[in-house]
Amino acid sequence: MKSVLFSRFFILLPWILIVIIMLDVDTRRPAPPLTPRPYFSPYAVGRSGTRHPLRRGGPDSGPGRGLKKRNESRPQPQPQPEPPLPTIYAITPTYSRPVQKAELTRLANTFRQVAQLHWILVEDAAARSELVSRFLARAGLPSTHLHVPTPRRYKRPGLPRATEQRNAGLAWLRQRHQHQRSQPGVLFFADDDNTYSLELFQEMRTTRKVSVWPVGLVGGRRYERPLVENGKVVGWYTGWRADRPFAIDMAGFAVSLQVILSNPTAVFKRRGSQPGMQESDFLKQITTVEELEPKANNCTKVLVWHTRTEKVNLTNEPKYHLDTVKIEV
Ligand code: UDP
Ligand code: MN
Repeated sequence: MKSVLFSRFFILLPWILIVIIMLDVDTRRPAPPLTPRPYFSPYAVGRSGTRHPLRRGGPDSGPGRGLKKRNESRPQPQPQPEPPLPTIYAITPTYSRPVQKAELTRLANTFRQVAQLHWILVEDAAARSELVSRFLARAGLPSTHLHVPTPRRYKRPGLPRATEQRNAGLAWLRQRHQHQRSQPGVLFFADDDNTYSLELFQEMRTTRKVSVWPVGLVGGRRYERPLVENGKVVGWYTGWRADRPFAIDMAGFAVSLQVILSNPTAVFKRRGSQPGMQESDFLKQITTVEELEPKANNCTKVLVWHTRTEKVNLTNEPKYHLDTVKIEV
């Protein structure tokens, strides 16, 4: 009797297993992601182990990718076409010095993690340098490489820096978009020595006209920031010339591409601009304080730092007996 029961059991066992497996396959649903993926997030690891840069609304986005059931009987809701992600244009003036490649490397490592960012690198030089050209070619970023030298008379301490380079970036943007004016975009000025959090790009991406936020380690203070009341900028927390119409650092604002295109004469000025007034003079041409859009939790979070790299000590560089190989630093 026992042996009959045993043999029945062993005959049934494979069938039971098959039923269990089939039930399991049918009920397996893709798990929702633990946290929503922000579009500044660096990379998603693909199923094959490859890394895909994240793009909002791309074929890889959303849970359940590639796991859609065939013969779906329920009508699927049509996915709403998402508006295109505005391109962030970062204009970076840069000049040759021992730390240049290190600065650009830090910057590229940040920018590479931001979706839909176009880097406009403007060399303060009479020609594009080999170092920067080679660097950009390997940076793995959509980029444009411009150059314009600062006239010698303006290369003095106390005078504003990188005026011509920022204007060259603006001119390139206006030219590129002269026939396609409706593309969404946001411009900001990214000096090569500052430190940028990834969250900053998420904040500035929603700029409608001109957005502002705090900047850390600037103006002789731990931070400067726009003062906000009821969602509007009403003043400036700054250690220096609070009477400026826009008492803000270059790293503290972004401008929509539409505003840049509809104000074609707005540029950084050398003539008539006092030291430290570049930002204010520029913003005066394109917006008003009332119009400013406060970002970073009503301007209470520091997401960018006006860091400065110390001058490197090269006192032991040899004049004779140079190294036997030439190395780019
Ligand atoms: N810069 C430049 N030419 C110069 C000096 C500076 O293109 O002769 C660039 C520099 O690489 C940086 C920006 O202009 O991206 C601001 O310069 P810096 O960081 O020296 O200014 P600060 O920190 O004092 O505002
Ligand atoms: Mn700087």
